[in-house]
Amino acid sequence: MTRSFLIKPVLGQKYPCVTHGNGIYLFDKQGKQYIDGSSGAVTASIGHGVQEIIDAMAEQAKKVSFVYRSQFTTEAAEQLAKKLSEIAPGDLNWSFFVNSGSEATETAMKIAIQYWQEKGITTKNKIISRRMSYHGITMGALSMSGHVQRRSRFEPMLENYPSVSAPYYYRDAGNLTIEECDDFYAQELETEILRVGKDNIAAFIAEPMIGAAGGALTPSEQYFQKMKAVCDRYDILFIADEVMTGIGRTGKMFAMEHFGVIPDIIATGKGMSAGYTPMAATIVSERVMEAMFSGSKVVMSGHTFSANPQSAAISLAVLHYIEKYNLVENSAEMGAYLKGKICELAEKSEIIGDVRGKGLFLGIEFVEDQLTKTSFSRELDVTSRIVNANFEEGLLVYPANAGQDGLTGDAIILSPPLTITKEEVDEVVRRFSVALEKVEKELS
Ligand code: PLP
Repeated sequence: MTRSFLIKPVLGQKYPCVTHGNGIYLFDKQGKQYIDGSSGAVTASIGHGVQEIIDAMAEQAKKVSFVYRSQFTTEAAEQLAKKLSEIAPGDLNWSFFVNSGSEATETAMKIAIQYWQEKGITTKNKIISRRMSYHGITMGALSMSGHVQRRSRFEPMLENYPSVSAPYYYRDAGNLTIEECDDFYAQELETEILRVGKDNIAAFIAEPMIGAAGGALTPSEQYFQKMKAVCDRYDILFIADEVMTGIGRTGKMFAMEHFGVIPDIIATGKGMSAGYTPMAATIVSERVMEAMFSGSKVVMSGHTFSANPQSAAISLAVLHYIEKYNLVENSAEMGAYLKGKICELAEKSEIIGDVRGKGLFLGIEFVEDQLTKTSFSRELDVTSRIVNANFEEGLLVYPANAGQDGLTGDAIILSPPLTITKEEVDEVVRRFSVALEKVEKELS
C-alpha cells in the first residue's frame, strides 16, 4: 500500500478511491457501484460523466484557460453573467464570480457593507443570520453561520454577529399554528434589530431552505414575506444564500421563488457548475449596483481565479444542459415522487420523525420517540449509522445537523442528481429502505 499524503476530512480513515462516474452512479477501484443520492455535497446536479460538459471544457481549453479579471474579460464569463441575469429573479442582473460558496456569501456580505458605505453610512457593518445556518467555512462566512461544530474551534476569532431562530415547525410549533410561528420569527427578528440597532446592521442572510445545519428545513410560503417586511422597515438588505438550493435543486430555478420574495443579493454555487469545476457567484440587484456605479465604482473583493474562463464556459454549459433537458421541472416531479415514497416508509418506520423539503432537496429527521420527538442520545450517533448503512448498500446520503440547538438531532439530506428517472428513484428508495431496516434493528 503506497503512503497517502492527501489530507482527508478524517485523518486515518479509509476512503474508497473512485475511478469514474456515469449518470447518477459512481464506481470505486473495487468495482463497487454507488448511487450518488446526495450529488456529493448537493453539487453534482446533472450527474457524472456528461459528454456535453466534457466537450465544452475541451472547446474552451483550446481557446484560453486563464485571463486575469483586472486585465481582460471573456465571452465565456460575459455569457455566463448574461445567463444568470436571465434566470435570476427580479432585477438581480449583476454577477460577481468566485470559486466556492463560502466566497460567494462572504462577497455578498462585503457588497452589502460597501453598499451602505457608498450611501455615506459607515456604521452598518453587522450581518444578522439564523442560529441554525451554514454560510461557509471562511472566517467571514463562518461568522454569519450558526453551525456549532464548524464554528467552535475558531469561536474567539469570529465576529459576534446577531442571530435569530430558524423556522423549524416540526419542533417549534407545539400548540401554535404555522402562521403564529412565522409571526414569532418575524417579531424575534425585529426585537434583535432593535437591540443591536438598525444603524449597525447591513443585511439579513438566510438559506431559503436550511441544508447542513438543519436537514432541508423548509419555511412556510409566508415566512420570508414576513421576514423581508421587517428588513425593509429597518433598511436592512436581504441576502439569500442559495449555494445549496439554487439552480433547480428544489424544483424552481432559485428556491426563493417558492416564497414570493426577491432578495437584494443571491449567493449561489455548487449546482451552478454541477461539480465539473469550482465556480460560484454573488448575484446583485440593480439597486445595490447603482450605489457602486454612482459611488466608488470598485467592488472591493475578488480572487485570482474570479471569472475564470474555463470555469465560466463549463458552468454555462451546465446551465444550458439544465434548460435543454428540463431538469428544474424534473427536480419538482421526481422530488415529489421520492418524497411520497419516503413518506410511505416513514409511516412504517419507528425512527423517522419528519420528512421535509421541496424538489430533489429532501430532509429526513430521525427520533427515538415519534410522539415526544425526543432525539436519540449523542453516543448512538444515529446520523452516522444511517449514512454508513446506506453507504454499504451503495447509496450516498448527506449527513445534516438537527435539533433546536443544531447539535442534538439526527438528520440526513437526500438530493440525487436532477437527471434522476422514476426507475432510479425506485432503486434509491429500495436501497434506503434496506439501510433503514438495518439501523432500526441495531437500535431496537
Ligand atoms: N452556503 C451554504 C448554504 C452551503 O450549504 C455551503 C456548503 O455546504 C456553503 C455556503 C459553502 O460553500 P462551499 O463549501 O462551496 O464553500
